Parts: sequence; C-alpha cells; structure tokens
Amino acid sequence: MIYLDNAGSTIVDEEVLKLFIEDNTNNFANPSSLNGFGMKENYDIVNYKRDILNILKLNPSTYDVIFTSGATESNNLAILGYARKNKNKGKHLITSKIEHPSVLNVFKELEKEGFDVTYLDIKEDGTIDLDYFKSILRAETILVSLMYVNNECGCVLNLEEIKDIINKSNNKKIVFHSDLAQTLGKEKVNCSLFDMLTISSYKIHGIKGIGALIKKRNIELEPLVYGGGQEFNLRSGTLSYPLIHSFAFIVKKYTKDFEKNYAYVQSLYYFTFDELNKINGIKVHDKFKRHCPFIINFSTTSKESSIVVEALSNKEIYVSTKSSCSSKLKVISHVIYELTKNENEATNSIRISFSKYNTIDEISVFINSLKEILNNIKGR
Ligand code: PMP
Repeated sequence: MIYLDNAGSTIVDEEVLKLFIEDNTNNFANPSSLNGFGMKENYDIVNYKRDILNILKLNPSTYDVIFTSGATESNNLAILGYARKNKNKGKHLITSKIEHPSVLNVFKELEKEGFDVTYLDIKEDGTIDLDYFKSILRAETILVSLMYVNNECGCVLNLEEIKDIINKSNNKKIVFHSDLAQTLGKEKVNCSLFDMLTISSYKIHGIKGIGALIKKRNIELEPLVYGGGQEFNLRSGTLSYPLIHSFAFIVKKYTKDFEKNYAYVQSLYYFTFDELNKINGIKVHDKFKRHCPFIINFSTTSKESSIVVEALSNKEIYVSTKSSCSSKLKVISHVIYELTKNENEATNSIRISFSKYNTIDEISVFINSLKEILNNIKGR
C-alpha cells in the first residue's frame, strides 16, 4: 500500500499505541474522582496541559487547554460558544471561504441565529486582501476565525498581517480564533497570534478521538455540552486519561522533530511537484505565497478525478478527492473553486498529503501509475 492521504488521517505512532495500552491497564481511574488514584491522574493532566502550552510557547498563566473529541468539536466550541456568549457585544463575525466545513457550517448555523457573517475571499496566491479586511471591521465585529494551513491545498494564510490589523483597529473586543488542525507539527506558526486555537491529535500520528481548544483564560464561552462540569464547565464528561496522555506525548514527540520532518517532507514535495508538472493534462495548484509542503493539490483537467482516484485505489495507492465515482453527485472543492474560479479544476482536484513515513520510491510508483492511468482512460 502507498498511503498519500495523511491530511485525512495518519498511522498511529508505535510508542503512542504502547502508552495507550499501558494507560488503559494502569491509569483507568476517573480523573474527577476524589480518591488518590483519580487525584493522581488529575495532577498529571494538569501537567500535560502545561506541557502542551509550553511546546506551543503559550503562557500557562494566560491560556487554558480544554480537551475535546477533535478539531470539529473544538471549532464548534470556539465559534458557537463565543458568539452565543458574547452576542450582546456585537453580532458581526468574520471567516474565510476556504475554511473546513467544521468552521463554515458553524457560521451558517449562526446566521440562522441572527449573526451577520462576512466570508472573506482568498486570492489566487492564498492570501487575504488586507485593505479589504481593514474595510470590513466594524464596532460590532466580535470574532475572526481563520485557518493557518488549508487542509485541501496547503496554502498558508497571511494571519500575521491580519493580526496586525486587528491590533491596530479601534475595536478592542475582537477575538481571533484559528483552526490549526493541519498546522500543528507541519508549519511553524506563532501561536500567541491567537486568542483561541484548535488542535487535533490524529493528524500527527496520535489517536483519533482527542483534540483541544486552547483559549485565553479571560474569554467566556457558552458550553455545547452540559453535565458534571469538567474542563472549566465548558466540556462536561469524564476525561480519558489514556487519550490525553497519548495526545500530550505525540505533541511533544512530533514537534521535537519538526525541523527534520519538515525538511524531509519538503524534499518529497519538490520531487512530486516537479514530476507532476511534467505530465500533460495536470494542473498543480501552487501559486501560493507560502505553501506547507505536507499537502499538494492538482487537477486532472481532461479526465474525471474520481475515475483516476478509483484506478489508483485499485493499485492500493490512496489519495483524496472531493468527487466520488459511486455517487453520481459531482462534488466541487469549495477551496479550489475559490482559488481558481474554475469549475472543471475544482471538480477534478486531487489532494496528496505526506507524512515522514513516505519515500521517494513511493512517489515514483505513484507518478508512474498516474501517468499510466491517465493514458489508459478513454475519453474524460
Ligand atoms: N479542520 C481542519 C483544517 C481539518 O483538516 C479537519 C480534518 N479533516 C478538521 C478541522 C476536523 O477534524 P476532526 O476530524 O479532528 O474533527
């Protein structure tokens, strides 16, 4: 098998798996219990939170970590929770047109609740027009939510400049949230740009079912889940010590090797980029000012990408696309459409995404198979 869908999910690190099994045997207490077993776990969890904040260079006396089930829940808690709790301060919210559905669909929901949402265009070079951004800030703006690395094409948004504009505006109540699900461990970012940030474990070889919303302590949110009051009363439910421990472990392990992984994946990226560009009928989406090398997106301009992806799958080469052969529905990539304004390219886009475990040999097999498939498909 050649697995090139690492932005979708990654293989779990062996040490993480071992730890998870040990913890399920040795640390199975309820961390909210007031007996010694539970209290010891609670003490550890406080330290794991501090470890994560230290790794992200965030001050533990300013930021809190709220463990969730993953990035979707963190995005929901940040955006719904903040908007609903603070609607008396203003009802204007800002996001972009290329966000993940776990952000976009939350804003759609808030529109039904009477909020006014601006969906920012993203330029072909993967950046936000700064003058336009400046022009839409209002006294009623309370929240800006923008991702750093985009999950479909790998473009890196110019959030440093956006933060600068927010800082210089007269409106001091704007809270800046970022979905860093594809950024953590894959692109260097100054996390202190953000008042709230979303991270997830399984994009960096951790286990599925655990993520976090990190937020400044003074920010008030309305909970999505009510119950026993865990996680500052923002996310009730018994904490999973094994998942939390595994998450803190992989964040530490993965980010320690950041430079090495980044340089290695960048070499895979350059090789793939050059090879893809040599193939007729392929357009690589790479006009970005900044590009995270873990993700590369291209369109099969004269063939249906769903057929190409299925043929690759038949050879056990796994990549990702929006459209599917089995459903007759043509699903357009909202991200590629936003960047290219080209319906054909957006319908026939393919994402490949790397991990440190991929090799140049694998990429060569993928490229040769792709060429063969494109030659063999009759018609579109
Ligand atoms: N945001 C981004 C940018 C993502 O790539 C993903 C996962 N594809 C999510 C949010 C949702 O993450 P999760 O599956 O952890 O809820």
